[in-house]
Amino acid sequence: MVKQCDICGMTFEGSNNARYCCQECKKKAQIQRQKEYKAKRKIQKDLKARQSTVLDNNAKNAKRQGLSYGKMKAQEFARTIKVERPKKLDDYKHRKQQFDEIVEQNLANAN
Ligand SMILES: [Zn+2]
Repeated sequence: MVKQCDICGMTFEGSNNARYCCQECKKKAQIQRQKEYKAKRKIQKDLKARQSTVLDNNAKNAKRQGLSYGKMKAQEFARTIKVERPKKLDDYKHRKQQFDEIVEQNLANAN
């Protein structure tokens, strides 16, 4: 059957599950997937670091200053972030953005 290559867009004759027109495109697709995986892992790592920073800070500050609303929210949010299972890269970018906003709010409230 006639298929369209996922990489270069060229049409080619291939079996049902064929996705690429040639070995070169197959290789490119593999590299692309690796890049995306690495990008996801990087964001995942970054989120985890931020998560523990916020949780640590809140734990330390809670005793000294009491929990402000902003801190409580940041802590709640940090707990809801699921960083174990990466899905779509965009989901992670969005989560990171949300997280950054809450951390910023948290810091603004703390000062
Ligand atoms: Zn191709």
